Amino acid sequence: MTVSCQFVFVTKMRPPMKTETPVLIAGGGPVGTTLALDLAVRGVASIVVEERLAMPPNPKCNTTNARSMEHYRRLGCADAIRRAGLPLDRATDVVYVTRWTGHELTRYKLRSSADVINKTPNTGAIDDYWPTPEPQHRISQLAMEPAIRDHLKTFSECDYREGWRFLSFQQADEFVDCIVQEIASATEHQIRCRYLVSCEGARSVIRREMNTQLEGRDCVAKFCTTYLKSAALKELWPHKPAWMHRIYNADGESHVVAIDGEDRWLHPSILSPDSDLDAHDHRRAIRNAFGVDIDYEVLGQERWIARAMVANHYHKQRVF
Ligand SMILES: Cc1cc2nc3c(=O)[nH]c(=O)nc-3n(C[C@H](O)[C@H](O)[C@H](O)COP(=O)(O)OP(=O)(O)OC[C@H]3O[C@@H](n4cnc5c(N)ncnc54)[C@H](O)[C@@H]3O)c2cc1C
Repeated sequence: MTVSCQFVFVTKMRPPMKTETPVLIAGGGPVGTTLALDLAVRGVASIVVEERLAMPPNPKCNTTNARSMEHYRRLGCADAIRRAGLPLDRATDVVYVTRWTGHELTRYKLRSSADVINKTPNTGAIDDYWPTPEPQHRISQLAMEPAIRDHLKTFSECDYREGWRFLSFQQADEFVDCIVQEIASATEHQIRCRYLVSCEGARSVIRREMNTQLEGRDCVAKFCTTYLKSAALKELWPHKPAWMHRIYNADGESHVVAIDGEDRWLHPSILSPDSDLDAHDHRRAIRNAFGVDIDYEVLGQERWIARAMVANHYHKQRVF
């Protein structure tokens, strides 16, 4: 008996990479993804290149204000954002205390996400009657970015490329030629676009290339922000739950932000503009804030300067 075999090799073909797009967006943080979403809703195609594959180790923004939430409502993802982050029933109060284990001085009562979603009347919170359909939302950028990105990925107008780095651009009258890199293979590609938008954050190379200057106060305060994991903190807290804990005592000022309502916390120490940020002893500051020695793991830390500056121009021909 003769057995005949036929093998069929199927090669998984990657669709050809687009090399032209109306809009190229460098950076897929909150601003880049929101812009891509706004363009997609208007039927305008874009490519977003984002160099990160994972979330950054340190949480940044922790509040998305009402105006931004109103935009997300228009763009179709306000509900997804509101359901992400802290547990829905977590109070989002701002409370002032002498130490974590000390006296409560005062408290601003604010609604939980569940109260906002369910339109619970008369909760006694100061935001009960704020005149907006989308009040502010307490959410870390760690949870907000994926919520916006997941919604963006449902639009065929946007080609979102994670693990891609923007390198350089050259502009002509009718187009901008950009060099981007697929980081895993270190392969460089050229993409021609009608408009290039710089959304790569505070260290933007495009902004420097455009010679945009930032004007204003270059130091409002200095911060040392430590991202902590500690199960003990929730147990030790002697008052009603809150979202922002502002701690004031003779040893200094610091804040503790609830990130997930369980064991993730952010501890920013606030230092004066003339202080030596590098010399700041974060362990001592954390001890002063909590009033007792606690077990905690440092998940990330950033020493940074808060500035109040505005760009002196926002575009040069086709580059924004
Ligand atoms: C501690 C802290 C607390 C804050 N709290 C708040 C708050 O409560 N509310 C608020 O509204 N704002 C807050 N902010 C500010 C807020 O985080 C920023 O305004 C926001 O992150 C800006 O978004 P962005 O998309 O412009 O930049 P980023 O968030 O910096 O995103 C830029 C993106 O570009 C990517 N990228 C950079 N270079 C390249 C490249 N060459 N190629 C490809 N990708 C690149 C980066 O990986 C990043 O994902 C806070 C900031 C800090 C530091």
